[in-house]
Amino acid sequence: MADNTKPQPLGGNEMPRYGGIATFMRLPGRSEPKDLDIAVVGVPFDIGTSNRPGARFGPRGIRDESVLLRPYNMGTRAAPFDSLRIDDIGDVASSPFDLLAAIAAIEERFNQLLTHDLITATMGGDHTIVLPILRAMAKKHGPVGLIHIDAHTDISDTMFGAKIAHGTPFRRAVEEGLLDCSRVVQIGMRGTGYTAEDFDWSRQQGFRVVQAEECWHKSLTPLMAEVREQVGDGPVYISFDIDGLDPAFAPGTGTPEVGGLTMPQALEIVRGCRGLNVVGCDLVEVAPIYDTSGLTSLTGANLLYEMLCVMPGVVYRD
Ligand code: MN
Ligand code: MN
Repeated sequence: MADNTKPQPLGGNEMPRYGGIATFMRLPGRSEPKDLDIAVVGVPFDIGTSNRPGARFGPRGIRDESVLLRPYNMGTRAAPFDSLRIDDIGDVASSPFDLLAAIAAIEERFNQLLTHDLITATMGGDHTIVLPILRAMAKKHGPVGLIHIDAHTDISDTMFGAKIAHGTPFRRAVEEGLLDCSRVVQIGMRGTGYTAEDFDWSRQQGFRVVQAEECWHKSLTPLMAEVREQVGDGPVYISFDIDGLDPAFAPGTGTPEVGGLTMPQALEIVRGCRGLNVVGCDLVEVAPIYDTSGLTSLTGANLLYEMLCVMPGVVYRD
């Protein structure tokens, strides 16, 4: 039986899945942050996007497709909603015109949220949003470890002359001292570069970079054992860019790259984060307007759910 002292997703036998208000997983959406262990929050922002836009619709798309999700994880037996107080607290109001104002608003909102003893689970938005989130994380926890899944390293110095954009957040995060660089791993990088050395800067900072080719045709469960070793007991943030997946699984995104991770590999990565001291997570770069069936939003919703299932304090029914 579900623990009704905690916010529970609305069941499909209480209201049809296509009915009602589409909060994440049909959670009540009525909680105050102070009462939560995990705040699910949307950041509808995409003016840091370099190619095709649309990730501003990501939170709404993820909420729409998340109506299919049920509370118990039948693969791992995780029971996140019986273990923790989790709710959707809505979106950050970020400017659609002024990038720096939007970044400031996101940072302020996360600083507010982190005055409470909670974990944030963020629906993006393009990947620019991880910079203000990491600023807030580091302010609270000190420099954090990072598990970053993406087709791209997002370590450009500038894009079109701009220091803040969706291809630069981890360069800025290093410069600002937000990351514990020896506890950073980037997984899924691939495609074409501007130079053959494009991924080298990451490695020079001490990051582990696992290119997609190293992942092809195999389980990533052994990799995640090594990642847990590398990340250790310290605070760690998970940032999942949906384009880390192959476009076969996630076509609805701004900068797709062929030859990516499979969905089972993505599940192995997220499930492999169990036991870590996760302080926050995000799922970014879902642009539903390029989806033909809601597939990318559905994939994103499932991955965010899987992240909830590995947060500290989640009970497994085994
Ligand atoms: Mn990215
Ligand atoms: Mn990417």
